[in-house]
Amino acid sequence: MISPTKKRIALISVHGDPAVEIGKEEAGGQNVYVRQVGESLAKQGWLVDMFTRSSDSQQEKIVQHSPNCRTIRLTAGPKEFIPRDELYGYLPVFVREFQKFQLESGWQYPLVHTNYWLSSWVGMELKKSQQVKQVHTYHSLGAVKYKSVPTIPMIAKTRLQVEKTLLETADRVVATSPQEREHMRYLVSAKGKIDIIPCGTEIQLFGSISRAAARQKLGISPAAKVVLYVGRFDPRKGIETLVRAVNLSSLRDRADLKLIIGGGWREGESDGKERDRIDSIVRELGMSEITSFPGGLSREILPAYYAAADVCVVPSHYEPFGLVAIEAMACGTPAVASDVGGLKFTVVPEETGLLAPPKNEAAFASAIDRILLDPALAQQLGKAGRKRVETYFSWDGVAAQLGQLYAQLLEQSAKKLDPVSA
Ligand code: UDP
Repeated sequence: MISPTKKRIALISVHGDPAVEIGKEEAGGQNVYVRQVGESLAKQGWLVDMFTRSSDSQQEKIVQHSPNCRTIRLTAGPKEFIPRDELYGYLPVFVREFQKFQLESGWQYPLVHTNYWLSSWVGMELKKSQQVKQVHTYHSLGAVKYKSVPTIPMIAKTRLQVEKTLLETADRVVATSPQEREHMRYLVSAKGKIDIIPCGTEIQLFGSISRAAARQKLGISPAAKVVLYVGRFDPRKGIETLVRAVNLSSLRDRADLKLIIGGGWREGESDGKERDRIDSIVRELGMSEITSFPGGLSREILPAYYAAADVCVVPSHYEPFGLVAIEAMACGTPAVASDVGGLKFTVVPEETGLLAPPKNEAAFASAIDRILLDPALAQQLGKAGRKRVETYFSWDGVAAQLGQLYAQLLEQSAKKLDPVSA
């Protein structure tokens, strides 16, 4: 077995910069995943370089996160924000810049772990010119996404084709939940090698503050009933369902009912438009008094929001994994989530939270009410949620599984190169 000590690997995340502050603009689960996996792998002895596209001329080219883990920003296209559906044309330059970086550094990465379909294309291109193992995490599947959007973007055909070729040719694809694996098999291809390795969470960070202390910090009264959403502003996140569900709640007339919708946005971009749409529904329903939009929540303040909440709602139409649910659970706050994708894997109904059919505001309202009206149930679900996260979803545990997979693949390449001594 090859020791992971001092093995150099590259995580590639063209559009999800692992070094940016999470909660801003489009940044979400993928940024968190790459950063946390990278840092945990580095702790375990890997030399981790995380490659992304430079999207701001003010950004540093290289950000050193810890001795063995850094983010490297390559120049591919203008150094400004470009929506992910418009990035495909810049990928060949990204590949050339990656190759140039290798040449200048004097090494070639023996393994790349690519994230999202754009990066998968980069990995497949690299394989044409060098000996490299490719591990891939989709984060989102076109075949699932396009079933639920009103307009299919121009890039859809290319994306679906790239996702299929990737599944059939990557050395290993990582599904983050059994449900995501099923989708790959039924909607993408029956061929290809898939391992299930979940996402994780920072179990020391989340769960570090009590409810009373969190409420004091945020200026929320001890008696208030707090419903929380955390995430990107995207119609597929189902925030509208949550707002309408809270409007149907039997506690709707209480002045101390609070709906907090946390997450960043960019004026004029798609997330800014969704934020405005949600705000107009809030106003239309006369809920402005009880609703707040605190904006992007940093990792420092986020544990306080989760801890202060009575319930965290994840009303997504679809979710391959859904980090927010396990972050809330890690803080001992029960989750009410859509009965879809990875949420069915992380949230065990009646044990660590409750599930409701997506887009069904009445079902969400009754699940939210059950938790708000029954503190004993809330406490029991919260406690079991924390335990589940500790057992299955720590980043160190996740990175250990990924590290084992990398080591196994690298061992295979070594055997191929030197069948006698390896
Ligand atoms: N997030 C954050 N601050 C915010 C909003 C979101 O740190 O204001 C983080 C959140 O804690 C989670 C990630 O962004 O770690 C969202 O991941 P998830 O898998 O729930 O959704 P995705 O963005 O992948 O669709």
